[in-house]
Amino acid sequence: MILEISTSTAVLTSTALIIAHLRHRRFQKQSESEIHALELRLKQELQKAYDERNRLLDALGDAFLLVDSTGSIRFANEAARTLFGARELLNRPVGEAFLDPRLVDALLRCMATGEPVQSRVVLPQQTSPRGDLENRGFNAWVIDAAQLPTPVGGSITTRVIIRDVTTEHQLEQVRKDFVANASHELRTPLAIINGYLENLLNDDMIEEPEMARRFLTIMKKHADRISRIVEDMLVISRLESGEVNTLKVEPFRFASCVKDILERLESVIRNQQAEIVVKIANPEAVMQGDRFYWTQVLFNLVENALKQNPYNGLRVEIGGEEVGSNFHAWVTDNGVGIPSADLPHIFRRFFRVEKHHSQQEIKGTGLGLSIVKRAIEAHGGRISVTSVPGSETKFLIVVPREIG
Ligand code: ADP
Repeated sequence: MILEISTSTAVLTSTALIIAHLRHRRFQKQSESEIHALELRLKQELQKAYDERNRLLDALGDAFLLVDSTGSIRFANEAARTLFGARELLNRPVGEAFLDPRLVDALLRCMATGEPVQSRVVLPQQTSPRGDLENRGFNAWVIDAAQLPTPVGGSITTRVIIRDVTTEHQLEQVRKDFVANASHELRTPLAIINGYLENLLNDDMIEEPEMARRFLTIMKKHADRISRIVEDMLVISRLESGEVNTLKVEPFRFASCVKDILERLESVIRNQQAEIVVKIANPEAVMQGDRFYWTQVLFNLVENALKQNPYNGLRVEIGGEEVGSNFHAWVTDNGVGIPSADLPHIFRRFFRVEKHHSQQEIKGTGLGLSIVKRAIEAHGGRISVTSVPGSETKFLIVVPREIG
């Protein structure tokens, strides 16, 4: 594309030079009208070349600008015009047209050195090219400036490409946070295990079987936690891999999936004397999906309800019904609930409500709901949550009954 643009720019420049040349030269043999006709034809050719160039540049997804040697914008393609909205671009110095000087920096360096310059700029929304229209918080741009090949005698033109890389930037940030959080979560149990090991080895605790057993039990609990975090991370990474065959889609009965998880949680339910209500409109309803992930989704939701409310008398409802081409599934409880300030973050990896964080007892990995959300999204569905603490906390899943 850039080659085509450079070629058409060169054609334009040389055609313009020919016209100028014709205007000033006196042809003895050719009549005035012949010269006029030739000039007209060349002008038409020139217009055609301009139109063609603009058409090509408008087809670019990235904002593209041509800037002359004085730093004035000579051309802005459609993506640039859209990006800068109502702001006038043509014939304005770039410094005035762009809101933030960091956007101009690459261009200035390129103009000063003649070398191509690429820079990445992360801007808060107020100074993003989109200004008030921006609502993604921080956003990232790659600015790529390079001088175009210039015909002899022509003036230097610099092209600037502005690429929106906000999505990539956010993904990168999420990955960095994930690694940082995962390391942090793994470090704590590892440090505890190491501490007890040192005690056992250095302080001859091993000679005291009772103490040694107590230490080993604690170490086992923390080693189990590490395994669970690693298992959960692997599940998330599989779900996020985007591979087509991540899901093994097969028909299964929702009711039998519920029965499985209730069997697995039976002892907890009994210990807490929780009341479990199953409301499945059609127990024979068959759905399409990956039964493994569905079991994990329901298990995590019901286990959360029980885990967050470790006292007697909790009521948990598990329900499902077909609604048109969708299937609705829900898990509700009447426990402590989730504060409204925490609701928007509840599906984030490693997020745990603060009050639970401070508790000494190991409550979970903070990955359970991330797995639930990603598994449901992999099935083409959505999950939402509402909570009135002490009254009703409801996780509602809506998935298409057929996976396309
Ligand atoms: P965890 O492994 O800590 O359970 P989750 O991702 O499953 O991680 O849940 C994140 C946090 O959401 C929990 O730590 C808890 O604070 C809160 N939470 C989830 N479900 C419920 C619920 N039914 N009632 C109250 N709080 C809940």
